[in-house]
Amino acid sequence: MYQDLPTDPDELQVIQGHLIRLLARIREQRDAPTPLHWDLPSDRAWLRIIEVHTAGQLRRAGEQAYEVETGDRPWISGPAPGWRLQHLPTAAGQAPRQILHRTDCWIDSGEDLTPVEASHQAARPNVELCQLCHPSPPACPLPTDASATAA
Ligand SMILES: [Zn+2]
Repeated sequence: MYQDLPTDPDELQVIQGHLIRLLARIREQRDAPTPLHWDLPSDRAWLRIIEVHTAGQLRRAGEQAYEVETGDRPWISGPAPGWRLQHLPTAAGQAPRQILHRTDCWIDSGEDLTPVEASHQAARPNVELCQLCHPSPPACPLPTDASATAA
């Protein structure tokens, strides 16, 4: 448990909602040609620092919520037992979005991947890495993967 976070699931959900909205605003500010939000710095280095800090807080709140609900702390467990690709719903005409997770992430939807598939997916531009479970698949596809060299 994190002593600075509440143990009420509803309060944790409110905190997570605030952090998710803040992260979205930080990224809007970062990606916009001119600053959009008066209350955020326009300097990219400062935005990056705030983004990393906010993402860390969101991860901690997610871990706390999971631990409150299950009594389990799978993020302590070390290397990922596997990886999973979550498909997000997008509006018609929009590019598909996916999020890569560890299989022990508390977000448990999507398809299971092999280590090679996970490292391929992690390199694709429309695939985001989950900010709660921090999946880190092998950096390079394994040289023994025949399907990667066949194409
Ligand atoms: Zn995840």
